[in-house]
Amino acid sequence: MTTGRSRRDVLKAGSLALLGMSAAGRIEAAEIAPEGGDTTYTLPPLPYGYDALAPLYDEKTLRIHHTKHHAGYVRGLNSTLEKLAAARKAGDYSSIKALSRDLAFNGSGHVLHTLFWNSMSPPQPDVPDGLAKHMAKSFGSVEAAKSQFAAATKAVEASGWGLLVYEPMADKLLILQAEKHQNLSIWGVTPLLVCDVWEHAYYLQYANDRGTWVDNFMKMANWPFAAARLEQARRAMAM
Ligand code: MN
Repeated sequence: MTTGRSRRDVLKAGSLALLGMSAAGRIEAAEIAPEGGDTTYTLPPLPYGYDALAPLYDEKTLRIHHTKHHAGYVRGLNSTLEKLAAARKAGDYSSIKALSRDLAFNGSGHVLHTLFWNSMSPPQPDVPDGLAKHMAKSFGSVEAAKSQFAAATKAVEASGWGLLVYEPMADKLLILQAEKHQNLSIWGVTPLLVCDVWEHAYYLQYANDRGTWVDNFMKMANWPFAAARLEQARRAMAM
């Protein structure tokens, strides 16, 4: 006999398979769901299993990065919202500067990690034609775009990110660095592809060799995801 619970599990596994997600990723995310408090933000499951990117990104590094580091930003973001609500209620804004800083840090950390998991792909796909055309228009060629992205990412000072973004005012792609998660951006851009170069992102597997980590990230870069983000952002601007 099929119980309600096992039937739900079967349905859940089926829908996860459609999304290309592993059941293992989902279970891990559920295990670390926040208990009580503000739950505005939740840790999304990975779009693949923890071992899907090995050997370029090993299972242990990926698992700790997702379940400890990304989860920490989600908790920090929810807890900052709670503290802001308490400050409004008490009419006490003595900590507003620190809370505003925490909001940007944790919020940007959550957004960038969510994009980061999707910025890597096991099949190592090619750059779709539409995105390739925009890369050529903005950077001269696809190869030039990739070279600049890798160079900018390797050169981030201390902890941060390399980002391929869409800037709508000029209808143009740009490559930015982010220090920490929230510094050095241009307001209004849409990040399309992001690479994490905090030491926690690569040190377990690559030690101090950030260059090889970034080169291997480029081999996993999920260009179809970036292309879909670009199409969505340009469509939104046209409306
Ligand atoms: Mn990270």
